[in-house]
Amino acid sequence: MASVLSESYFHDEQAAFEALERIVWPDGPSCPHCGATDRLNRLGVQRSKPSKTHPEGRSVYGLWKCYHCRGQFTVRKGTVFEDSPIPLHIWFQAAHLLCSSKKGISSNQLHRVLGVTLKTAWFMSMRLRTAMGDGGLSPMGGNSSTVEIDEAYIGGAEKNKHANKRTPSRGHGPHATKAPVVALVERNGKARAYHVPDVTGANLREIVGKNVRRGTKIYSDDSAITQSGAWGYSHASVNHKAGEYVRGDVHSNTVEGFFAILKRGIVGTYHHVSEEHLHRYLSEFSFRYSERSALGVEDRERATKALRGIVGKRLTYKSTDRRGAEA
Ligand SMILES: [Zn+2]
Repeated sequence: MASVLSESYFHDEQAAFEALERIVWPDGPSCPHCGATDRLNRLGVQRSKPSKTHPEGRSVYGLWKCYHCRGQFTVRKGTVFEDSPIPLHIWFQAAHLLCSSKKGISSNQLHRVLGVTLKTAWFMSMRLRTAMGDGGLSPMGGNSSTVEIDEAYIGGAEKNKHANKRTPSRGHGPHATKAPVVALVERNGKARAYHVPDVTGANLREIVGKNVRRGTKIYSDDSAITQSGAWGYSHASVNHKAGEYVRGDVHSNTVEGFFAILKRGIVGTYHHVSEEHLHRYLSEFSFRYSERSALGVEDRERATKALRGIVGKRLTYKSTDRRGAEA
């Protein structure tokens, strides 16, 4: 078996552009200026104007010219890679690392492996998490399928955090300073997770209503305030407080398994995630879980699927540059 890392798009900028074009333009290129799909020509490697830092000019890869509107473009246009000065083959390396590590990969490690600054590594991983986020997916479940729902509270111990990174308290109790997250996991299927301000019946109803087809069996434990039976679903729960974890096929072990991976990743890899950025980490863990090898998706294909998500999701420095996402 050939090493994944010997793929040319990890090392060669031209090959990286061609690989991304196959992913983003499966039906061939289209001009982002005028929408044309014909009379488009690849320009070959161009040379930029000489500058102080590059007296010979830089090589410019991936340029196309549209002979309808005379505009030029590359496959980066309109994606989360637009305006990024990072070479595309480094983006491929980052995507592969993030997609193939079950518990994620810290900015610090990306920084060391890729040879980019820590700040750049953080920003790259944030853009890739955005690419992993689903853009309005169709509902899960359906007749004869089962979706498990549960909530968990994510966050480190407050005493270990720097004063300005502590989560504001929501009152009393062990969860007061943690972020509530609700997850839906379809058995033998995908996962989605949402950060909610509070776990209430109304919040759960909205999440279930948006994400799960009517008629789906919904299983939960007794801690979820789930009345999905009343919302058009068939609902059953196990009573953990009474020591009941499995009753026939009624259990929430699958969603608890998802939360176990999420918590190990957040605690072990990322150490601390601010509430502001939590939804991006939830996208990352849901994506990897949903595209896992048990469902037949291997590392290479998972990275390709993540890169397909770069389209139409621009993320600027402004919207993520408030630090505090991870140690
Ligand atoms: Zn055009």
